[in-house]
Amino acid sequence: MRIPFNKPYMTGRELEYIAQAHANKHLAGNGIFTRRCQDWLQQRLGCRKALLTHSCTAALEMAALLADFQAGDEVILPSFTFVSTANAFVLRGAVPVFVDVRPDTLNLDETLVEAAITPRTRAIVAVHYAGVPAEMDALRDIADRHGLLLIEDAAQAVLSQYRGRPAGSLSHLAAVSFHETKNVISGEGGALLINDPRFLTRAEILWEKGTNRTALLRGEVDKYTWIDIGSSFLPSELIAAFLWAQLEQADDILAQRLHIWETYHKAFAPLENQGAIRRPIIPPHCCHNAHMYYLLLDGLSARTRLIEQLKSQDISAVFHYVPLHSAPAGRRYGRAHGPMSITDRTSDSLVRLPLWLGIETVLPRIIASVYQSCHAVSPPLAA
Ligand SMILES: *Cc1c(COP(=O)(O)O)cnc(C)c1O
Repeated sequence: MRIPFNKPYMTGRELEYIAQAHANKHLAGNGIFTRRCQDWLQQRLGCRKALLTHSCTAALEMAALLADFQAGDEVILPSFTFVSTANAFVLRGAVPVFVDVRPDTLNLDETLVEAAITPRTRAIVAVHYAGVPAEMDALRDIADRHGLLLIEDAAQAVLSQYRGRPAGSLSHLAAVSFHETKNVISGEGGALLINDPRFLTRAEILWEKGTNRTALLRGEVDKYTWIDIGSSFLPSELIAAFLWAQLEQADDILAQRLHIWETYHKAFAPLENQGAIRRPIIPPHCCHNAHMYYLLLDGLSARTRLIEQLKSQDISAVFHYVPLHSAPAGRRYGRAHGPMSITDRTSDSLVRLPLWLGIETVLPRIIASVYQSCHAVSPPLAA
């Protein structure tokens, strides 16, 4: 039996809630299900205000609009990330300045950020890679001292914590994703999380095509009109209904993913001791959400060998990211600050293993295959 890399998990109530949205005859955005999801996000992720969007990419674009970038303004971000982290700002004419990542968490190296700041720098974007929060206290301190915005790309980090505080609440603006490859899903989907009250009013306006329609729905104005730039960032109620079925089960999904993650992590400890691989490192002050299980191999050929070995046994494993600083668009629109050696090395040596609810029964097969590729004998799995 083929083992896919990802398998979207359904909680079972998605279609029931979509049927309710259908019966409510409210299919456009900002209805009952949207508000339920937003309330949940505000409560659980500790943000002032959550606005559902049709993707995390859209939420990042809203953050870039709110930051009011002028052409040529700079934004500091990791190169080891998904394209949207950079694209959202490039769309506004900003220049992404790529900084290397820490070797342990593969998050933005906060010790390199200050040297990359110029008079044009407007914002720092931290990505919580694999759902492990970046060093937000240090980044916040740098942002505050230089008068910069701090933005979290928390696409992968729903229900992760940094020093007891939820990812998404640690910056001025944050973005999360409900893409079908994330922990909690709606196919495509996301949310903008607003922590700085300065942005509350304008965020709602940008969200609703540049109008004050949200204020009208609350009865604060008696007609709505065009008052700012904006776009259509809202998802339909059908999407929000699906998402609500997932958010209701988010804690259960998290517990099950953590269990799978721990099974991998324990199983690969002997391989790490033999020096064949490196496992993910979770700092003691971070609680991750088991978004991803990855292994770091000893360079490109070992990585290719492992992916081929897994493929020969019908197990789908993938690598990412092609560093943004050396990608064609990254070179055209941005620049690297300093050598990007950890980013380049990680990009060549990282493998993501399948991680989805229901994978438990085939985990021994995947683990044995990894051991085989490293010419080691896998230990029996602890029950
Ligand atoms: C998935 C992801 C995104 C994009 O999310 P979408 O909802 O697909 O737009 C952005 N940044 C990171 C780090 C991601 O992992």
